[in-house]
Amino acid sequence: MLTVNAVAATSATDPLVRTTVERRDVGPRDVLIEIRYAGICHSDIHTVRGEWGKVPYPLTVGHEIVGVVTEVGASVTRHQTGDRVGVGCMVNSCRECDNCKAGQEQYCLTGNTGTYASVDRDGTVTQGGYSTHVVVDEDFVLRVPESIPYEKAAPLLCAGITTYSPLSHWKAGPGTKVAVVGMGGLGHMAVKIAAAMGADVTVLSQTLSKKDDGLAFGAESYYATSDKETFKTLANTFDLIVNTVSAPIDMAAYLGMLRLDGTFVSVGAPPEPLPVQVFSLFNNRRSFAGSSIGGIAETQEMLDFCAERGIASEVEVITADQVDEAYERVLKSDVRYRFVIDIDTLR
Ligand code: NAP
Ligand code: ZN
Ligand code: ZN
Repeated sequence: MLTVNAVAATSATDPLVRTTVERRDVGPRDVLIEIRYAGICHSDIHTVRGEWGKVPYPLTVGHEIVGVVTEVGASVTRHQTGDRVGVGCMVNSCRECDNCKAGQEQYCLTGNTGTYASVDRDGTVTQGGYSTHVVVDEDFVLRVPESIPYEKAAPLLCAGITTYSPLSHWKAGPGTKVAVVGMGGLGHMAVKIAAAMGADVTVLSQTLSKKDDGLAFGAESYYATSDKETFKTLANTFDLIVNTVSAPIDMAAYLGMLRLDGTFVSVGAPPEPLPVQVFSLFNNRRSFAGSSIGGIAETQEMLDFCAERGIASEVEVITADQVDEAYERVLKSDVRYRFVIDIDTLR
């Protein structure tokens, strides 16, 4: 067992504390990763604040992990010491159910093993990436392309794949009109990825304060949702709306912007319901969908796609002691566009 430095939540309200967590011995199929950077996802905040349910405190969160392989188990074939690697939101799945066999491990029918707050095969609770090292089964470890700096790669492991997967599934590309609701961590990646896929991208943000950035990330248009006119101007417009908002929104207003056969997909995960009046789906034969991260093969595809297209996350690097402050800024939508912890500050 390896005892490593970490930052943990001890309750829904207390500041995070510096502590240590235990990592299992490197098994035959495991990889030991020395973590370099860990992104801060809004899901970390929902989780530690108990918004999604009971929390196994003390808990170390973080599922946007990049680092270097420092040890591999005897049967590991996919990774070597010195490799640049990443770990996202899951570290295992059953591998036998229909969804796992289809490469959709995130939808494992027995539930995937989350990178944090899940019960691991040995019965311990998984602890996430706000820590100096992690031991992960090689099949759930991704290759991080050389051309993407570590800190800019970290957010791709959740924000990148969570937006790439629905954009790819609903075929964003030339000739499609895509709207991205909320331009935070996920939203800014959705804009960059959808634009790189060739879609005509519109940002729907609360205000116009980030308009220049949105256009620089590849959007064609940018509207404020605080302006009621936006919903009239854009009625019956989009093939796909990707909602990244962490709070409830007025579904009828957003569904009204879908054109014939358009889909509204929520990746945003507010604890409250998003109520839908079915009549707002009847017009234009609209669909309301959800999407959860992406499979392992698809995550690798996304990383390679980002490297090929020269895209990565916009980040603000912070120390391990600035996480509480960063959480507060995320909650105020004051993030440009992902906080990433420099894990060297935890060593
Ligand atoms: P984030 O950085 O906080 O971005 C959310 C954005 O939503 C904000 O920047 C803001 O954008 C907008 N927003 C926030 N509060 C709002 C409100 N009350 N009304 C309207 N707009 C609001 O968060 P994130 O890390 O991107 O995560 C977004 C959501 O996705 C979270 O709920 C997270 O848990 C979830 N998530 C889901 C998955 C999945 O697999 N489905 C994976 C990762 C994260 P503007 O300033 O532009 O308005
Ligand atoms: Zn996340
Ligand atoms: Zn499965």
